[in-house]
Amino acid sequence: MAKKETSGAKELKEKLFLQKKNAYLRMSDAEVKKCDKFCEGYKRFLDEAKTEREAAGFIEREAKAAGFVPFDKKKRYKAGDRVCYVNREKAVILAVIGKEPIEKGVNLVAAHIDSPRLDMKQNPMIEKDEVAYFKTHYYGGIKKYQWPTVPLSLHGVMIKADGSKVVVRIGEDEGDPVFCVSDLLPHLASAQMKRPSAEIVKGEELNLIIGSRPFKDDETSERVKLNLLMLLNEKYGITEADFLSAELEAVPAFKASDIGFDRSLIGGYGQDDRVCAYTELMAVLGAKSPKKTAVAILTDKEETGSDGNTGLRSAYLKYFIADLAASFGKEGREVLSNSKCLSADVNAAYDPTFPDVFEKNNASVLNGGVCVTKYTGSRGKSGTSDASAEFVGEIRALLDKNNVIWQTGELGKVDIGGGGTVAAYIANLNVDTIDVGVPVMSMHAPFEITAKTDVYAAFKAFEAFINS
Ligand code: MN
Ligand code: MN
Repeated sequence: MAKKETSGAKELKEKLFLQKKNAYLRMSDAEVKKCDKFCEGYKRFLDEAKTEREAAGFIEREAKAAGFVPFDKKKRYKAGDRVCYVNREKAVILAVIGKEPIEKGVNLVAAHIDSPRLDMKQNPMIEKDEVAYFKTHYYGGIKKYQWPTVPLSLHGVMIKADGSKVVVRIGEDEGDPVFCVSDLLPHLASAQMKRPSAEIVKGEELNLIIGSRPFKDDETSERVKLNLLMLLNEKYGITEADFLSAELEAVPAFKASDIGFDRSLIGGYGQDDRVCAYTELMAVLGAKSPKKTAVAILTDKEETGSDGNTGLRSAYLKYFIADLAASFGKEGREVLSNSKCLSADVNAAYDPTFPDVFEKNNASVLNGGVCVTKYTGSRGKSGTSDASAEFVGEIRALLDKNNVIWQTGELGKVDIGGGGTVAAYIANLNVDTIDVGVPVMSMHAPFEITAKTDVYAAFKAFEAFINS
């Protein structure tokens, strides 16, 4: 006892050192139960909403069921009113009107609902040696070699010559066929295995197998393709020209599942960034009458750089805020200048199998809680928005006050890692913005990994922010 008093190092360390502790060691059994239950809903979302269009549809349905109505800039809104804006079926904004005047600013949370995948080319159908394929152009940053020999489902829409729309979703239901990209057998792959890893499978080799049964006629060529177009014409009333005005996306056909004997992790496709989309959605749907107006943005095109009219470099967010402000007789820029934003995107979870690329002191870990990232960018913070110390301090206090389990993390070692989110585009509108999201292992792979405690912590963080 006397010795302890003289040194006191343990107590001093507890007082002075930054404490890091596994979420399971900080949560009560009752909290763990709540967390597990929450993640059951999350896995259903992952299965039901695999593309930006499906996610936007899911969000719109849930929002309508929870009392959100289409935003009308001519209407007068009062505290507690719930409005939504759907941008081209690919991005959604939900808002719950707060008690404070709109010009005091809004609390924004922004996640993206697009994920890396294989997009069909505009004229996709080919036949090669009596096997038919769709040619693809991958979407977002993928390691191309990860995508062959994975069962893939096909999602999207086709616009026919008469303007009518065919919705495609094949490979998700029991008994549905799936699609896939082939790979070479190891016996014949010695030359392939000598290619640089970025080219083990090349972009033009990501060909989706769609059929092999020929039309019964010896005379004609491309009989497999003909037979397939006949089938598609019967089922959807389409011809090959209708692919010209289509958006078809191949994504992993498997469902999300628990990983591990202890079921502590979740494996599934597209958790970047639907993990933040779902947690954000649940937080905003649960908002009753917040002090500040809460605005949840669920956007498209983050994985390709946020360009285009459904990405966050488009003016659609600015216009929405301007219209919202105008409905209160205020200016959009006044609202934006006083607003705060959590850019809700994932970070790279430290991977003990590949420790070399991480700087452990500044990497997020599985079961470390939701990850707060002050700055993103790469190689000299290029492309970052870098939240101010004051704003980080505010978020830190908010999370601690609400008992949210959180950690910090930078995406990999300096000059190795880095990457951007939508944070910079929102910060550029003069909004205080910081990245807050879930650590993901195997990010951008067909099967990504998250920890249930981190998913739940993200929900708690967004809930606390929205209701602050
Ligand atoms: Mn992301
Ligand atoms: Mn990503």
